[in-house]
Amino acid sequence: MNCPFCGLDPYEYVDVGVGGRGVPVAVNCCEFGPMVFDDRTSDKRWSKLAERILDELGETEYGEERMTLATEIYHKLITNEAKKK
Ligand SMILES: [Zn+2]
Repeated sequence: MNCPFCGLDPYEYVDVGVGGRGVPVAVNCCEFGPMVFDDRTSDKRWSKLAERILDELGETEYGEERMTLATEIYHKLITNEAKKK
């Protein structure tokens, strides 16, 4: 599965010499990849946030524009969240 934010394979692989593309060791596709793919950060709060960002991104094409938009939406949502408290 590719990253829904940047459209790339989210994992960094380490070759352990058994063929294939190796073992995934980290998520390094983009700054939002870990929200979806990294077990350490992909708790409910983050996946909800990721969902809302993707919702607003809609069909925006993969690329720089989508990432800029994602960052803007992310900051907007975080700010709204902070205001609620
Ligand atoms: Zn990504």
